[in-house]
Amino acid sequence: MIDLHAHTNESDGSLAPEELVDCAVRVGLEALAICDHDTLAGFDKAAPVAEAARLELVCGVELSTKFERRPGTRPKTVHLLGYFLNGPAPETFRQWLANIQQARRDRNRRLVERLNAVGLAVTLEEVEALGRNLTGRPHFAQVLVQKGYVASVQQAFDEYLDEGAKAYVHREEPSFQEGLRRIREAGGLSSLAHPLRLMRHRNGEFEDWLAKMVEMGLDAIEAYYSEHSPQDVARFLDLAQRYGLAVTGGSDFHGAAKPNIELGTGLGGNLSIPRSVLDALRARLRR
Ligand SMILES: [Zn+2]
Ligand SMILES: [Zn+2]
Repeated sequence: MIDLHAHTNESDGSLAPEELVDCAVRVGLEALAICDHDTLAGFDKAAPVAEAARLELVCGVELSTKFERRPGTRPKTVHLLGYFLNGPAPETFRQWLANIQQARRDRNRRLVERLNAVGLAVTLEEVEALGRNLTGRPHFAQVLVQKGYVASVQQAFDEYLDEGAKAYVHREEPSFQEGLRRIREAGGLSSLAHPLRLMRHRNGEFEDWLAKMVEMGLDAIEAYYSEHSPQDVARFLDLAQRYGLAVTGGSDFHGAAKPNIELGTGLGGNLSIPRSVLDALRARLRR
């Protein structure tokens, strides 16, 4: 059994990288990929611990990208996984991730200024205490609720944080194409994360989107996933075959941040991803 999608507390998971490795060894994983959002810090910390524990650890990342469905329509946020199967991602890719994180921090600073300007006393420190490296609007919303400025997270977005609201600040996110390109240039393999979430929105359009993504150079699709029913898995395996995509899979384990999802076995034991999935990815990358 392997798990190619797990988060540490370097992004929005609850376990430290070392604890995640211990957990992987405890549940008997043959291989683990750490796919933190926009950072490799969790992988870097886990790598020596995994080596000592003889656990095969794969360097991964989960990028938030903007996918333009049709020219002129509002781009949709799509999560893209990157897997560096021949060793950790190179310095150029790390520098690119650092730029993304810097852009996030700059946006958060401006958001604090805007909120202060409309009379709400919020500091960057309080928001970052909740969101750490991945501080974003949901954490601002939580702080506004805690301080009694709004009654709910929804109200925080409606009045202050959403596009068009009083304190909205735009954040530049990489396009889906740029994500694909950066992963490929860094020697990695790209996979569409939790495709069911996209399909849930527009079932009929999903296949058109997927065809477009394949045309852009997408390598794989995350067919095995905690939220996928056996029928969903079968459908994504079929799509993978028809579009010539490789297949990835993982639990999207976040520790206590998503307490019902277990490392390796997913939701109520619905996952058991065979090692052959990772072998097939390696074979594809060699081709
Ligand atoms: Zn995701
Ligand atoms: Zn994830």
